[in-house]
Amino acid sequence: MVSELQQRMQDSFREHVNEEYIMDCMRCGFCLPACPTYLATDQDETHSPRGRIALMKAMRDGDVVWDGSVEESFDVCLGCRACEPACPAGVQYGALIEETRVAIQQVKPQTIKEKGIRNVAFNHLFADQKKMATTVKLVQFYQKSGLQKVTRKIGFLDLFPPFMKEMESVLPKIERKSKSAPVSSPKTVNVAFFTGCLMDTLFQETNRKTIALLERLGAQVHIPKEQQCCGALHGHSGELAKGVRNARANIDAFDSDEYDFIVNNAGGCGAFLSEYEKHLHSDPLYKEKAVRFSRKNIDISSLLVKLNLNDLLKKRESDGVQAIVTYQDSCHLRNVNRVFLEPRMLLQDAPGFEYKELIDAASCCGSAGIYNLLQPEMASRILEAKMKGVKMLQPAVIVTSNPGCLMQMQVGIQREGLEKEMKALHIVDFLFNVIEKNNL
Ligand code: SF4
Ligand code: SF4
Repeated sequence: MVSELQQRMQDSFREHVNEEYIMDCMRCGFCLPACPTYLATDQDETHSPRGRIALMKAMRDGDVVWDGSVEESFDVCLGCRACEPACPAGVQYGALIEETRVAIQQVKPQTIKEKGIRNVAFNHLFADQKKMATTVKLVQFYQKSGLQKVTRKIGFLDLFPPFMKEMESVLPKIERKSKSAPVSSPKTVNVAFFTGCLMDTLFQETNRKTIALLERLGAQVHIPKEQQCCGALHGHSGELAKGVRNARANIDAFDSDEYDFIVNNAGGCGAFLSEYEKHLHSDPLYKEKAVRFSRKNIDISSLLVKLNLNDLLKKRESDGVQAIVTYQDSCHLRNVNRVFLEPRMLLQDAPGFEYKELIDAASCCGSAGIYNLLQPEMASRILEAKMKGVKMLQPAVIVTSNPGCLMQMQVGIQREGLEKEMKALHIVDFLFNVIEKNNL
């Protein structure tokens, strides 16, 4: 006798999870070595892309009972999409896991607390940039009023899970200083800046430096006021419809012929922005506008290369001892937008530094949006493996292209007690510092 929950879950999988995408999988297993959770679980098939796709099919067909182990298999997926470039059949795993999370979300019973958290996050905080800004003012007050010091001193943070405490310890200081361009140049290109909710609040300094770098290279930077969170967090949490709501708002905010590019400086946001055209392909009102938006979307490293930052960097010859700089890929920037050469090209030309590749730089660091908060054990296991490579390389700087990766690498450095030897920086902060130091 099939339980009511089982039946409803099966119906939901049938309704939301695309069977054609599932059938594209030929079960070859080429994706397995690329999957961090498969590797971190001693090659457990249920934590592999192939195993998860088989479970999606089994759920649709009613061949497996919905229980904690099935749910865990989907929950533990990082959504890093490293399985996609590895797949010879072009399986759209990213779409499949998004749809799976929608299917589960529709049916899974939620506690009042879960409902409350989701409501605040998806209907308020990440749905309205102004509410996000207010929250950040509270964080700023927490940091500046001395409350942070007191909280740490009395051990209040010990009441929270250890990973949250570590994240709190690497929260950037929210400053309100303005950064001007090192030298202004004639404007030759119009760039609309997608400022991002986290980047525009917790990482305001990086955003200011992003504008300064672009202006230094001759860009006129515009910041459309009505922009919202990209919607990635919603899309990755089973709230795809709300993510698409944000997509429409952003498309309207950026829909101007004036802009040559729409630039972002967070790999996770950039990937979702580039997929607006996919999410809105059947919307007659937004279909064409979404294509225009996604085609103009570009990440900061690619745009800096296009605007010839490398030529500027090469003006200063490296002399004397060179510090090692390395790069940890943002999964979505690499696996969805397939951008991995451009950040490396910039770092290779940075005067005063020698670029060295980090072992398994392409593999996820365990941050994956808010994965490290939801799945701290697996996130820690993945970070531990990542830090082994870091310790072998001993870089002075680990550069990243996404706020989540940045904080995750800062936690890794802190856990290993390496704060005196190295630091993690966003690529914009790193490049801005190099340009300022060398008067370029
Ligand atoms: S997802 Fe792709 S690589 Fe993985 S088993 Fe299926 S066809 Fe093979
Ligand atoms: S998205 Fe990442 S964690 Fe999930 S199955 Fe693909 S490679 Fe594995």
